[in-house]
This record gives sequence, C-alpha cells and structure tokens, in this order.
Amino acid sequence: MQQQPQQAIEPIVMSRHATRQARVAWGDRVVTVGGDAPVRVQSMTNTDTADVIGTAIQVKELALAGSEMVRITVNTPEAAEAVAPIREQLDRMGIDVPLIGDFHYNGHRLLTDYPACAQALSKYRINPGNVGKGDKHDKQFGQMIEAAMRWNKPVRIGVNWGSLDQELLARLMDDNAARTSPWDAKSVMYEALIQSAVGSAEQARAMGMDPNQIILSCKVSGVQDLVAVYQALARRCDYPLHLGLTEAGMGAKGIVASSAALSILLQQGIGDTIRVSLTPAPGEARTQEVVVASEILQALGVRAFVPSVTACPGCGRTTSTTFQELTQQIDDFLRAQMPVWREKYPGVEKMKVAVMGCIVNGPGESKHADIGISLPGTGEAPAAPVFIDGEKRMTLRGDTIARDFQVVVENYIAQRFGTAGTLAQSN
Ligand code: SF4
Repeated sequence: MQQQPQQAIEPIVMSRHATRQARVAWGDRVVTVGGDAPVRVQSMTNTDTADVIGTAIQVKELALAGSEMVRITVNTPEAAEAVAPIREQLDRMGIDVPLIGDFHYNGHRLLTDYPACAQALSKYRINPGNVGKGDKHDKQFGQMIEAAMRWNKPVRIGVNWGSLDQELLARLMDDNAARTSPWDAKSVMYEALIQSAVGSAEQARAMGMDPNQIILSCKVSGVQDLVAVYQALARRCDYPLHLGLTEAGMGAKGIVASSAALSILLQQGIGDTIRVSLTPAPGEARTQEVVVASEILQALGVRAFVPSVTACPGCGRTTSTTFQELTQQIDDFLRAQMPVWREKYPGVEKMKVAVMGCIVNGPGESKHADIGISLPGTGEAPAAPVFIDGEKRMTLRGDTIARDFQVVVENYIAQRFGTAGTLAQSN
C-alpha cells in the first residue's frame, strides 16, 4: 500500500546558535564572526613568523585560496617584531586579510613589549591553559585582555585538550570524586574544557571586555568528543564559536574526520568560523586546508566559494582517461580563476558544472547543472553533448573537447555573471 506523505520533505538545518557577533578588522576590511554572518574560513601559516617575506607570501596564498582570516604564530621576540613588517608587506601586495596572533606562554609579555605587533594584529588567540600557573595565571591572562582592550581587538579564548588548564582539571576531578555518583573521567575533562573557556570569558568581561569581542573554542581531536563538547558549549554561552578538529591528521583521515565532525555541528547551527587542521604531506600546499574547509561549507550548502563540479566516478563504461583529465582540468581552471572572478563575476561561485562519463547519467545530471557535458563512454559515438541551463545547446567532437568546453564555460560565465549578463538579467 502506498503511503501518502504528511508534509513536504525539506533539509533540516538548525538556526545558528551564536547571537553575539565579533568584528575582526584590518583597515576597511571587516570580517564579522557570529550572529547572522556567514560561517568564516580561517587557516594558519606554518612558516617561521620571523621570516617576514616567507610568511607574507604564505598568508597571501592562503588568502587567495579563500581564507578570510589567517593566524600566525607569535612565539618569540623576533616573531613579535616581524608582525608589523608582515602586515606592511601584505598591504603593499594588496592583501587585506586580517591577521590573528597565536600566543602561548609569553603572550602577555610580547603584547606589552611590542606595541606595533599588538596593533598590526586583528585578533589575539589566547590559550587559558598556557598563560601561566598558580598566581601568575590570572595576572598574565589579565595582561593579554588589557592589551586587547587597549588596542580594541577581539580575542579568541581557545582551549585545547592537549594544553588544558591542569589546575582546573585537578579541581574538577576532586569535586567529581566527592559526588555520590561520579562522572567518568572523560565527562570531567569535557566539563574542564568548557569551564576553562566560559570561565575565562567571564574573567575577561569582569575586566571590562566587550562580550561582543569574545570568540570561544574548545578543540579536541576525537570526532565524538568534539561534537559532545561543542553541543554542551553552545548550550552554555552565546559567543561565536571557532570550530575545528585539532590535530586532525594527514590526507584522507584528516579530511574525513574534520568533515564528519564539522558537518554534524554546522548542521546543528554550531560554529561561526572553521579551520581544518591538516598535516600537509611533504610538498603539499598549505592551502589544502582552506580548500577542504571551503568544500565542507559548500557541500553542506552553507556557503558557496567556487563553482562546483559534479562528476561521476567513472566505471567500466568509460575506460579512457579523457573523462578524468577533463574533470581535473575544469576543476583546476575554475579554482585558478576565482581570485579574479570573485570581483568580476559576482555570484559565479554558486554555479554548478557537471562533467559526466557516459550517456547513462550524463544528460540527466548535466541538466541539473547550469552547464554540463556528457562525454562519450566506451563504444558510444565520439560526441559530447553540452547542456546549458537544462537544454542541449551543442555537441563537441574531436581531440579538442576539453579546450572547447573550457571556452564554452568561460563564455557562459561572462554572459551570465558579467556586467552585461547582470544587466540583461535585471532588465
Ligand atoms: S555516468 Fe556512465 S561512466 Fe559515469 S559512473 Fe555512471 S555509468 Fe559509469
């Protein structure tokens, strides 16, 4: 018996948890974080910050790949001295991406002793587990908050289970032991992570810090741990949250684990900025972490950064490499053009391109895309129909299909998203 649907089926994406919104700014560039702002992509350099040119070049690469904020390590006096020159170098290169300073152990001294560094940064990351022990903890944390207020900078209070405040953890363990039914050790650790973040935020506010200048994070490296901690953190505060699976690892493992964890939370409205902490393979570009972060948001339909390419996996019906090469070429081409197209063709990032291996799903999938090509599978006539806006418009043949299709895509983009196309659409 056929069941009658009771209501239309729609994806369930929960509304965003954070009601507060922070501003991370440099010059005229303002990146809002939290509230109704888009979920932001950020990344972190792995250069020696004291190397001004090397760091500026990598920041530029990350920014051009789509990173909306870039964090740099500020760990030594030499690194602190280099921050303002890095900022100046970026400004000279026309890169206005806000820089975030990552501080541990000596941030209170560096932010005090190097005012040009404190000024050139757009946000400070403070790890409450690494600001000093005993009496020094509150004093040194306070010095960093004072610097943030003096220079009017937002902070991320970034807790990490690898450097969790051990005194706080020990206190919570003792409290737990006195419970009639003690929690397991993991639950106590989750609680310590959250109390460290939320308690530090309260401490900053007690000093006069604007609550809209505070972003929190509680990073762990296990997927289920991250989901549990952030769900609880979101219930206990309204600050914007920076989301990331720390030490995610390398290659497929790092990508899959990060995607799994972040997707669950983003679907629940949790997370206002994200970073994918991949270990690059030797020789692999640092920008890979930006590509993965953007793809997670794009796959979820949360944001669009680059035209997406739908491609079939290929099978016994398409044994040549032509189809794989064309897919790779189109993907590379679209990504390479985006730094220019972002300005020139507003809206192009939402475009969908399909590259399909044969007639089985090729025409159908191509019709769902803005522009699609169905390549000839093994044994099919050597012709590749091209579909534009759901209609078959032409057929490409011969050895130059890849190049010809690229030209067709470029013309379509210019026509649809260029000034003329925009005017034509609005008329
Ligand atoms: S579209 Fe064709 S080539 Fe691609 S997976 Fe399906 S059957 Fe195979």
